[in-house]
Amino acid sequence: MDNCIFCRIVSGDIPSSKVYEDDEVLAFLDISQATKGHTLVIPKQHVRNVLEMDEDAASTVFSRVPKIARALKKATGASGMNIIANNEEIAGQTVFHAHIHLVPRYGDKDGLAISYTEHEPDFEALAKLAETIKKEISA
Ligand code: 5GP
Ligand code: ZN
Repeated sequence: MDNCIFCRIVSGDIPSSKVYEDDEVLAFLDISQATKGHTLVIPKQHVRNVLEMDEDAASTVFSRVPKIARALKKATGASGMNIIANNEEIAGQTVFHAHIHLVPRYGDKDGLAISYTEHEPDFEALAKLAETIKKEISA
């Protein structure tokens, strides 16, 4: 796609600091560097996000993640890593070519803050919701 910034990185139109490349997958440093070594792993073939992937596309891109993540952890000396995919605008997606963020973590004040609101569990509601999702998966 001509107007997709990550397709243009794949084709070499736009330069990037590549850390991994094979026939189907590319990984390069995110320009914003949320923490040192912040890397994006992308499929070379354009797809909007994880919600649009079929099993093959998902296997292709996710299968490369552990190897790249381990190397990134070693290279940066990070203590751990958040692995995140933002899907659609509401979830913070700003580039609509699927990508997985690898964000190395160095400590409490390393610049990345992720917080979840915890709710009191309503076990009946959880069981109902699980049933609804299960039905949708097998539909
Ligand atoms: P999103 O918000 O869609 O999950 O993440 C998009 C990411 O792409 C952002 O973290 C942003 O910094 C990164 N990004 C956007 N444009 C470029 C670019 O031209 N080069 C690189 N290396 N990263 C980019
Ligand atoms: Zn694209």
